[in-house]
Amino acid sequence: PGPFLSVRDLSVEFSTEDGVVHAVDGLSFDLEKGTTLGIVGESGSGKSVTNLAILGLHNPAYTRIGGEIWLEDRELISADRATMEKLRGDRVAMIFQDPLTALSPFHTIGRQIGEVYRKHRGASKKEARDRAVEMLRRVGIPQPEVRVDHYPHEFSGGMRQRAMIAMALVCDPDLLIADEPTTALDVTVQAQILDLLKDLQQQFGTSIILITHDLGVVANTADNVLVMYAGRAAERGTVREVLREPRHPYTWGLLSSMPRLNSSVDVPLKPVRGTPPSLLNPPSGCPFHPRCDYPRLAGPELCFGQRPDISPETGHGDACYLTLAQKSELRTAQTEQT
Ligand code: SF4
Ligand code: MG
Repeated sequence: PGPFLSVRDLSVEFSTEDGVVHAVDGLSFDLEKGTTLGIVGESGSGKSVTNLAILGLHNPAYTRIGGEIWLEDRELISADRATMEKLRGDRVAMIFQDPLTALSPFHTIGRQIGEVYRKHRGASKKEARDRAVEMLRRVGIPQPEVRVDHYPHEFSGGMRQRAMIAMALVCDPDLLIADEPTTALDVTVQAQILDLLKDLQQQFGTSIILITHDLGVVANTADNVLVMYAGRAAERGTVREVLREPRHPYTWGLLSSMPRLNSSVDVPLKPVRGTPPSLLNPPSGCPFHPRCDYPRLAGPELCFGQRPDISPETGHGDACYLTLAQKSELRTAQTEQT
């Protein structure tokens, strides 16, 4: 059998008043069953858009989608609305940065979790309530029999996040898409939520796509990483490969802006210089070239003239014209400096 989720040559274009925005451009990746793929990039890199396409949540009036998205033996881009609606919440679920986008303030937590279960599983009210209590217990909410009747505003931020996870997982989905699930939380709660996701994955075998701008989040949570830039794959590999032997200059930038967890001195955060490109008029050649220090080394006619592609094979790969020898030499020089 192939991978659990397979995205092939995905493109997503929006029509706007100013022209066509190429939000995702020729993206391919695989997700193996029961593993976590971290998708990392700045805002506007296409990571959220990619996942909305997987969920079928884009607005078809403004969006053109190309390529293929295979969930086991089912292709999702060609699936009709009813199929996608059935899939969402049941086999595929999502959690967001802000639980209040998923939770209504007007209904109790238990009712909202139960509703999803009733809709997809045809459960009775009593069954749905029992299931809600069980789910709240699973995600580590104390006194779930009492908490089930509370409203979202009676929960702390971290508990709301847990409640949203409970709601997402109520039908035991095979795939969970988590879009910046911990960005709004303080560091301690953030670590707790990521641990929770890992525990649940170990217990229930859920496959997870974790979208984040923070390589640090990925370091402790994901098995594989996809670094996205300007709607394209910049680098891909196991967490170990990408963190230990990063190959793409953009990944180097992301790594140097990561706080050192083991360091006692406060290393100031150094963001990647420059800003993400406009996807209305993307730069020619390598989309990263306006922010890159190495076009001269790699070959200006290539960097400015021709889009670099990531190798189609699986395994560690990146989309940059520098040779592997140049990359490792540059990387060694950088790490010696710090
Ligand atoms: Fe920099 Fe050229 Fe590599 Fe792009 S292809 S990241 S511009 S060296
Ligand atoms: Mg986003």
